[in-house]
Formats: sequence, C-alpha cells, structure tokens
Amino acid sequence: MLDFVELEAGLNSEERLIRDTAREFVEKEVAPDIGDHFENGTFPTELIPEMGEMGFYAPNLEGYGSPNVSETAYGLLMQELEACDSGLRSMASVQGALVMYPIHAYGSEAQKEAWLPKLGAGEAVGCFGLTEPEHGSNPSGMETRAEKDADGYVLNGSKTWITNSPIADVAVVWAKDRSSDNTVRGFLVETDRDGVSTNKITEKLSLRASITGEIGLNDVRVPEENVLPGVEGMKGPLSCLTQARYGIAWGAVGAARDCFETARQYATDREQFGGPIGRFQLQQDKLAEMATQITLAQLLAHRLAELKERGDLRPQHVSMAKRNNVRMAREQSRVAREMLGGNGITTDYSPMRHLANMETVYTYEGTHDIHTLVLGHDLTGIPAYDQ
Ligand code: FAD
Repeated sequence: MLDFVELEAGLNSEERLIRDTAREFVEKEVAPDIGDHFENGTFPTELIPEMGEMGFYAPNLEGYGSPNVSETAYGLLMQELEACDSGLRSMASVQGALVMYPIHAYGSEAQKEAWLPKLGAGEAVGCFGLTEPEHGSNPSGMETRAEKDADGYVLNGSKTWITNSPIADVAVVWAKDRSSDNTVRGFLVETDRDGVSTNKITEKLSLRASITGEIGLNDVRVPEENVLPGVEGMKGPLSCLTQARYGIAWGAVGAARDCFETARQYATDREQFGGPIGRFQLQQDKLAEMATQITLAQLLAHRLAELKERGDLRPQHVSMAKRNNVRMAREQSRVAREMLGGNGITTDYSPMRHLANMETVYTYEGTHDIHTLVLGHDLTGIPAYDQ
C-alpha cells in the first residue's frame, strides 16, 4: 500500500494492529460485496454489530467501553474503512463522532450509561440531525424548535439528508429552544417516539452504499432528561462536526489510495500495443502525480493527529485538511477511473464508485466552498459567509 515517505514506519504496535485489523475486516467481509451494495443502494447492516465488536465506533473516546486509542490509530481506522467505501466510513463516523461524541462530551451520566456502551457495541444505531430542507450550509438558521412544558419538551420540524436515520434507534436532534431565547440545544430522540418519521431518500447517485433519510418531528414529546445538558448554542453541533471532519480528512486518503493501487495494478496488467499500458510515459505521469498528491494529503492527516493528540488542533486546521484531502480524492479518483478505460466505469473496479462517493464527501460536513470561507475568515479576520 502506498506509504511513499514511510509515515507508517513510526506507528506503534496498537496503531499497526488497528490498521491491519480494519484492513483485513474490509478485505474479507465488505469488499467482495460492496459493488453490489452500491448498485442496489443498500448498506451491509448485518455488519453493524460486528463493526462494534471490532471497536470501530469512537475507539478514541475514554470510558464506557471505549478503549481511548490514539488519534493516529483512529485516523488509520477511518482511512482503511474509506479505502473500501465512503459509506462504510460514514457509518463509523456518524455513530462515533456525531452521536457517541456529543453524548460523551455533553451528556448526563445517565445518558452516557444508557447509550454509549450500546452504540459502541453496534447494538443500537444513532444518527445526527442538523441539516434541514431550507438550511444546509447555514445550519444556524434552523427552524426545528423545542417548546418547554411541564412534562419536558415538544419538538417540531424536519431534518433531511440524515445518514442512517431510517435504521436509527436514536437521533441527536439539534433544535432551537423557544423557552430560552431560541438557544440551540441537543435532544436525544428515540425514533420510536410518537410523531417521529424517518423516510429513506432513494434517489442518490453517490454514497449509494449508505442509508440516508429524513427526520420528521411532529409534536414529539421528550422528557427533560433527554436534553444534552452540557452544551448550548452552535458550538454543540459544530464541535461534533470537527470530530467527524477529522475522520474524513483521513478517510479521503484511503479512498484515493485504493484508486491509486487499483490503477497501478491495472497499468501493469492491461496490455495495449504489445505490452502493459504502464510502460507509457503518459500513464506513469498519472501515477506519479497521484502518488505525490496522496502523499501530501497523508502528511497533513498525520500532522493533524499530532495536533489533536496534544490538544492544539483548531477547527480551521481540520477545515484545511477536509477541504484539501477530499478535493484530492475527488480529482485522483477521476484520474484512476480514466486509466482503467471502459472497465473504469463499472462496479467491478472501485475508482468510479469512489469518484461518485466523493461528490457527497465534498458536499457534506461543510461543503468545499464553506471550508474555503472558514479558511478565508481565519486568514484575514473577515467573515465572508453572509455577503
Ligand atoms: P446548500 O447549503 O444549499 O449549498 C448549495 C451550494 O451553495 C453549495 O455548492 C455551497 O457550497 C454553496 N454555498 C452555500 N452558501 C455559500 C456561501 N456563503 N458562499 C459560497 N457558496 C455557498 N446532514 C446532517 O445533519 N446529518 C447527516 O448525517 C448528513 N448526512 C448526509 C449524507 C449525504 C449523502 C448528503 C448528500 C448530505 C448529508 N448531510 C447531513 C447534509 C450535508 O451536510 C449538506 O448537504 C451540506 O451541508 C450542504 O447543504 P445543502 O445541501 O443544503 O447545500
């Protein structure tokens, strides 16, 4: 596997073990059928508990059954999962960084005990409801609202593009608390509550091996103890997104690496004009550029892990890495697809699937444009979001 400047030579034994375990799991259990799942628009749900047993959901958290592995180990895990498919990494990212993380960081003791072990084991599935039909890049405009009464809260509103909502047991729903100056609060909403609907979105041409849906909230009653007590305002959802985007910055490298390895192999095997296409300078140029861009993205991901480990990671660092590494994967998956000729447009090979997936990854968790504005704000001190 491509590791041109030997970044993985410095991994400790736990990090190697996690990388190798994830790689083996993906190769044996998921890779053989992932093309079919992509074609059929399905996710291998039977693997959700197995992924839990293997420790794939938020192993970088401490306590409640999570082993508190290093940020490098967590990143390597995301890289290996996304080398198979962005849908697989999305499953682990949402469950770990967008559902377990907020409960771990902002939940009550009772919430942590009730949900973290079950989510970590894959015995329950969670989803994260922030995006709304009219509020995507600007989630602070959200219209979902919570009204307080004597028994707790009543939630109304709708969320869309929610990964795993149709199969989720619990949704972390972000809503404005009408009784408290419209402050954004996080609510743990069990999906079997009256008034909750979770329709599946079926028309996707990207991230097909992932279940995506809506969350409808129609007079949904939740008790006060379902509110995440430890956070108020947009810091709540945004801090979760920083965790998930960190995983994406690593994951995108995995997708690009898989495209590179597929193209490198194909260039050796495929013969035209009396020999392998890999002997042509044009094909070598493509491989050299892919390897270089992947290596640069790997360097950024490894640096992010160091900063996160020592507590110096800023959301803007993550914006730069998410923006760069996903763009890189989007561009390089197209080059790999091209190198495979006609075979490159089929599900028999991974590049076109990764290429299609990257359209989602480029869009969710802050679009490429929005991360550009985050960086522009950080570099100039002038926010350009509302102009
Ligand atoms: P819009 O915000 O309408 O943007 C449209 C275009 O305008 C984009 O190109 C954008 O970059 C551009 N734009 C917007 N504002 C500006 C500006 N100020 N300056 C310049 N350009 C701008 N959300 C969740 O809450 N939970 C999930 O689990 C989840 N999973 C998802 C899974 C999939 C498959 C997809 C596709 C999306 C998912 N999302 C999820 C939603 C995702 O985060 C949003 O799609 C994303 O934030 C963009 O919002 P939007 O689609 O409404 O696009």
